[in-house]
Amino acid sequence: MKAAVFYGPNQPLKVEEVPIPVIGTGEILVKVAACGLCHTDLSYIDHGVPTFKKPPLILGHEISGTVAEVAPDVTLFKVGDRVLLPAVMACGECSSCREGRGNVCDNMEMFGNNVDGGYAEYVKAPASNVFHLPDEIPLIEGAIIADAITTPFHAVKNRAKVKPGDTLLVYGCGGVGLNLVQVANAAGASVIAVDISNTKLAKAKELGAVAIYNANDYPDVAKVVRKSTGGGVDIACECIGNPKTQEIAFNCVRNGGRLVIVGYSAHPMTLNASRVMYREMEVVGSLGCPLGDYPKVIEMVRNGKIQVLSMVSKRFSLDQINEGLDFLRSGEGFRSVIVP
Ligand code: NAD
Ligand code: ZN
Repeated sequence: MKAAVFYGPNQPLKVEEVPIPVIGTGEILVKVAACGLCHTDLSYIDHGVPTFKKPPLILGHEISGTVAEVAPDVTLFKVGDRVLLPAVMACGECSSCREGRGNVCDNMEMFGNNVDGGYAEYVKAPASNVFHLPDEIPLIEGAIIADAITTPFHAVKNRAKVKPGDTLLVYGCGGVGLNLVQVANAAGASVIAVDISNTKLAKAKELGAVAIYNANDYPDVAKVVRKSTGGGVDIACECIGNPKTQEIAFNCVRNGGRLVIVGYSAHPMTLNASRVMYREMEVVGSLGCPLGDYPKVIEMVRNGKIQVLSMVSKRFSLDQINEGLDFLRSGEGFRSVIVP
């Protein structure tokens, strides 16, 4: 089969022929329909963040497809079923999994990081971690549920703990941030969006943001946000992964409010510790989404409460993957997918 293989940082992915994965007990083989391009891939390719499995590795962790083969012991799936693979697989047995927090599983395995991912014609997966994708959800655009939508869903529901009427700031409206806007809006929050791209901000507005700010238009955007909200937002979600914007997002939060770190950064961030203490600020991280919440997200997409079609800007073939990654680097577009 054809696959886009990562050989190490600062070099393009190599599209080449590799063997089709061989499935074992409990596994299924999936013919990839689409795999979303995520900024996390750029952290391996451009920024030298090591992958858990040493290269060569097939990247890609936002995968939809159809079942091509099932192991004899698998009863949940049959050949031809439409499926969604979660970005991160959980063991189901560690203490985190037993608490329903498989997204921080001690033995988690991420596609395109610990194991070969979806920038390929086929990928294998343990059936216990796979979800059916209903017919009403488009197979290609549905791929982005697996990270770009489930990650914001978990952030909003379990980490930001949004209640109707909360003011929530999304700092950085890329593939993850824009979906956080639509999920938080669906959860009843008044959403404020910040970015440096007017196109992203216009999309945030379309997805329900009540106010938008281009950070480049203000010397101190946090001050503007605090003023417009009478002291700051209840919750701010940083969706860029930059110590500077993490600090600015923190400065947008009201006393006693919550900062949720969604963006990935390998660097330390600086927060005013005395404000954390005196003002009882909460700072929490958010990673992926527990498998138990996937059916809820899939149902919200199925019934139209969350949109996927308009969130996919471009499709690229496997041969065009480096072009797709350049498009991601350019910051244009919301989410793009590879269609093998
Ligand atoms: P993206 O490139 O699509 O989006 C980034 C957005 O930030 C863009 O819209 C860009 O214009 C904006 N931006 C950049 N610099 C800015 C600044 N100084 N001020 C305001 N806006 C700015 O990336 P993405 O795919 O949405 O991923 C976002 C982050 O989330 C990455 O760090 C990624 O690694 C991380 N991520 C985390 C999880 C998780 O589970 N927590 C899952 C997926 C991705
Ligand atoms: Zn586990």
